[in-house]
Amino acid sequence: MIYGARLQNDSKVTSLVQRGNWCWPDDWMIRFPSLRQIQIPQLDEEISDKALWVTRTRQMTEYSTKTVWIDMECDNPKVIWRHLIWFAQCIPRHSFVLWMENQNRPMTHDRVAVWKPNEPMKCVLCALCPDSDHLFFACSYSSLVWNEMLKTLSKRIIFDWNNTVEEISKMKANNSIDSIVSRLVFGAVVYFIWQERNTRMFKQIKRNKESLVQTIKETLRLRMMIFSVKESKAVRRMEEI
Ligand SMILES: [Zn+2]
Repeated sequence: MIYGARLQNDSKVTSLVQRGNWCWPDDWMIRFPSLRQIQIPQLDEEISDKALWVTRTRQMTEYSTKTVWIDMECDNPKVIWRHLIWFAQCIPRHSFVLWMENQNRPMTHDRVAVWKPNEPMKCVLCALCPDSDHLFFACSYSSLVWNEMLKTLSKRIIFDWNNTVEEISKMKANNSIDSIVSRLVFGAVVYFIWQERNTRMFKQIKRNKESLVQTIKETLRLRMMIFSVKESKAVRRMEEI
């Protein structure tokens, strides 16, 4: 319709006002009679068109992506674990799995059992029990991966879901290399255990613990290579590790 009326996609209101009157295309006036009722704007050569945004509270503001984002954002309370998941150096796909896990969303066996109650379900990593609460920490396969990765951290963290989330979340204001690496390690281990569980389950491909640890270390090494850091003993020590 725009091209049929010899207008352009970026045509402005001024193109449709001539000598103080509307000059809508004739077929538009027939198709959309309400066009006649729109008040004719007083055009001032000095004023150019601009985009505005009407907020949820019906206030007219300058349009910017920031304004729209803030306006559309829900007023949910801030969760304690947000700094564990979202931080400048995070690996987004790891953050996404962690975020789901923190809301108890992954399709572990306890959730599957609701609609497949008679299916025999065993953890694909150790084949001992359902993977539900056990998968990330209690599983013997996962424990060995954690133990190996713990050697890279200066602070001994007892890895279990609640303790770690609380422990690492406290590091929020702390941008030290140890805090960043702890959070990266946590996200990477959860991500790769979840990935290993899924490739075993759906593709029948297995990796042993050593090879999973190697993949995690390599992923973190590549991520950390592009950090810009301030020179310090802690940074040098982490570099060696
Ligand atoms: Zn297991």
